[in-house]
Amino acid sequence: MEILFDKINIALLVTAVLNFILGLLIIYSGRNRRVSRVYFLNIIAIIGWIMAMFFYRSASTSGTALFWCTILYVIPTIVASSFLYFTYIFPSQEEKNIILRALVIFGINFLVILSIVIPGLTIREVNIIPGEEHEIIFSSVYVIYFIYTLCFFSFGFLRLFKKILKNIRSERNQILYLLMGYSLAANLAFVTNLVMPWAGYFWLNWLGQVLTVLMVGFTAYAIVAHRLMDVRLVMRGSSVYFSSVFSIIVLASATKILLSFFVSKVAFWVDLLILIVAISIFPKFKDYFFRIANKYFFSSLYDSQKVIAEVSDKLRMMLDVEKVYDFIYLTLEKTFHTKTFAVISYDKEKKEYSVQYNRGIKIKKNDVFVGNDFLHRYFTEQNKSIVVEEVRNIYYNKKTKKTIDLLTKLNVDILTPLNVKDKTIGLLVLGPKESGDMYNDEDMQVLEIIGAQAAVSIENSQLYSEVKEFNEKLEQKVEDATIELRSTNSELKDMNEKLVTAYEKLHQLDRAKTEFISIASHQLRTPLTSIKGFISLLLDGTYGRIPKVTRDVLEKVFISNERLIKLVEDLLNISRIESGKLVFRFEKNDITKLAKDVVDSFELAAKNKKLKLEYRAPKKKIPAIYFDNDKMREVISNLVDNSIKYTKKGTVGVTVEELDNQVRVIVSDSGMGIAKEEIRYIFEKFQRGKDSSTTHTEGVGLGLYVCEKIINSHNGKIWAESDGLEKGSRFIIGLNIDFIPEDSLKVIGKEGGKK
Ligand code: ADP
Repeated sequence: MEILFDKINIALLVTAVLNFILGLLIIYSGRNRRVSRVYFLNIIAIIGWIMAMFFYRSASTSGTALFWCTILYVIPTIVASSFLYFTYIFPSQEEKNIILRALVIFGINFLVILSIVIPGLTIREVNIIPGEEHEIIFSSVYVIYFIYTLCFFSFGFLRLFKKILKNIRSERNQILYLLMGYSLAANLAFVTNLVMPWAGYFWLNWLGQVLTVLMVGFTAYAIVAHRLMDVRLVMRGSSVYFSSVFSIIVLASATKILLSFFVSKVAFWVDLLILIVAISIFPKFKDYFFRIANKYFFSSLYDSQKVIAEVSDKLRMMLDVEKVYDFIYLTLEKTFHTKTFAVISYDKEKKEYSVQYNRGIKIKKNDVFVGNDFLHRYFTEQNKSIVVEEVRNIYYNKKTKKTIDLLTKLNVDILTPLNVKDKTIGLLVLGPKESGDMYNDEDMQVLEIIGAQAAVSIENSQLYSEVKEFNEKLEQKVEDATIELRSTNSELKDMNEKLVTAYEKLHQLDRAKTEFISIASHQLRTPLTSIKGFISLLLDGTYGRIPKVTRDVLEKVFISNERLIKLVEDLLNISRIESGKLVFRFEKNDITKLAKDVVDSFELAAKNKKLKLEYRAPKKKIPAIYFDNDKMREVISNLVDNSIKYTKKGTVGVTVEELDNQVRVIVSDSGMGIAKEEIRYIFEKFQRGKDSSTTHTEGVGLGLYVCEKIINSHNGKIWAESDGLEKGSRFIIGLNIDFIPEDSLKVIGKEGGKK
C-alpha cells in the first residue's frame, strides 16, 4: 500500500503523536480510572480518525479511498459517543440511568454506522482527482450523519457548559478548558470536515484532524493548571526529566560547537569528559527544574495528608502565637506558593476583625475591619472558606459589596475561618498563588483543616501567655514578699541580738547583785550577832543591874536586832540559793520537838503583842523523818514570826499531825488573813500582800520564798490557806514520811541541785 508523505500527512502524523502522548498521560494517571479510560478511548478514536484521514489521503485508487473514507466516517461516531459518555461521568459520575443512556447511544450509533457502511447509502463514491483532495459524493442520507454529529457534540458541550455553571471552584476550570479545547476543535472540524465537503469543497477536508491539537493543548493546560484527572504527577515527572535531559544536551552540544571553533577535531576523550560532566550535573538540573516546575506549573501539587499530618504535629507543640503564625505562613507558602498571607482576629462583641499578622497584604498590623454579617454567617460559622472570586460571582449584592470590593482591592483570594468548636476566633487571609492558579477543592480542604488546627493552637498559645503573665506577676509578688520578709527577719534578728545582749547584761547585773548581797550579808551578820550577844548579856545583868526604862529600850533593840538578823539570814539564803551554794544536812529527826522549840522561842514576842501562842501536840506519836533541822527551824520560825506579825489579837497555833503518809506542820492564826488573789504569789520573791506592805513596812517579802525553796528540797510542799481578809490564815508544811534524800548532803540552787 502506498503511503503519501506530503506536508498535510506529516502534520496529521504529528497530531496523532501528540494525541497519543496525551492519551498515555491520561491513562497512566488519575484516581478516577473510569474517567481516564473513557477519555483515553476518546483520544484513541480521535487518533483513529486522524490515521484514517492519513490513509484516505494516501489512497491512490477509488476502491481503497472508499474503504478509508468509510472508516473516516465511522470512527467519529466512536469519538462522539465516547465524548458524550465522558460528559456524563466527568468530573464525577452523578447521573443515573447510565446503562439506559449507554444503550440509547449505542443504538443510535449502530444505526448511524449502519447508514455509513451500507455501500452507497450515505457515501456513494470517492473520486480521486490528482493534485487535489479526493472528492466524495454523498447521498441525501448524509443529512442523518450530519444531524447526528451536530446533536451528539452539541449535547455534550451543553452538558459540560451546564456543569461549569453548576460547579464551583477548581472543577469549573477543568471543565472550562476541556470544553474550550474540544469545542474549538470540533466546531472548526464541523465546518471543514462536514459542512464544506457537503457543499463540495474538499481542500480543507483534513483540517479537522489537525485541529485536534487545539484540544490537546487546552486539555494539557487543564491538566497542568487545574489538576485535570490528576495527570499532573505523571506530567511533572516526565516534563522535569525531559527538560533536564534537553537542557543538558543543548549545553553539551553548545560546548562541543564552541570547542570546534578552536580545535579542528574534537578528541574522543573530550567527548567523554563532556559526557561525564553532563551525567554528573544531571541531578542538579533535575532538582532545579523540579523546583521551577513546582513553583510555576504544579504549584497545587502536594501531598495533602503529609501537609496535614505535619501541621498537626508541629502546631501541637507550639506555644508562642507569633511562632504559630510564622509556621502557618511557611506551610502555606511551601504548599500553595501563596504570595501573601495574613491572620486577622475576630472580636465577637464588636463584630470586627483586626490584623494580627501580615505578610505582604496591603494592610497594617492592628488595622480593623468591620465584619460582614452575611459572609460571616454564611461561611465562617459553617467553617467554610470564602473564595473571593466565587463570592463575587454568586453573592455580590448591596450588602456584601463593600467587603467584597475591599477583599478584591487587597488582592485576597481566600479567607479561611479559624474556628474553635463553634467559635470563630479569626481568619486566615490568603493572597493569590505564585503561579496565578486558582485554589482548588483539595487546597480548600487542606486550608480548612489547617485553619481548625491553627485556631486551637492560637487559642492555646493565648491561654498559655495569659498563664505565663499571671505566673510572672505571681513570681514578682512572691519576690516582693520575700524581700519584705527578709527585712522583717533581719529586724527580728537585730531585736533578738539586742535582747540577748540585754539578757546578758541583766544576767551580769543579777550576778553582781547576788554577789553584793552575799558580801553585804556576811559583813552584817557578824556585827549583828555580836550586838545580839552583848544585849543578851546586858539584859541578863552581866554588866550590873539595869533600870527598868533602860531594860525596855534594850528589849526593843534586841527585837529589832533579831529582825535584822532574820533579814540578813534570808538574804544570805537567797544569795546561796541563787549562786547554788545552799547546803542541806539531812538527818532523821523528831519534827514535834523542833516545832515545840520554835514555839518556845517566840514566847517573848507573842507576849509582847498580847497574843496567845500555843503548841498543839499530835494525838499519836509522829514517826521520825528526814529533814535539815536548822533549815526546818528557819521555815517554821518564819511562819510563826509572820503569824505573830500579821495578827493583832487572838491566837497563833502550831499543830503537828500525820495525814495521808505525810507529817504536817500547820501554823495558824486569827490575824488579817490573805486575799484570795494574793495567795497565789505570796511565795514569790519580794512579793508582799497589799495590806501588809502598808501596815508592816519592815518586811521585804523574802521569807516565804526561802521557805518554799527549803521545803521543795525536802520533796515536801508548803501552801497557805485563808478564809479571807481578817479571817486568819493557815500555813501548812507537808513532809513525806518516806522521804529519803539521795545524799545526806544536798546542794540546791540554780546550777547545783533540785529546785
Ligand atoms: P514579809 O513578811 O517580809 O512581807 P513574807 O514572804 O514572809 O514577807 O510574806 C509575804 C507576804 O505574805 C506578807 O507580806 C503578807 O502579806 C503575807 N503573809 C505572810 N504570812 C501571813 C499571815 N500569817 N497572815 C497574813 N498574811 C501573811
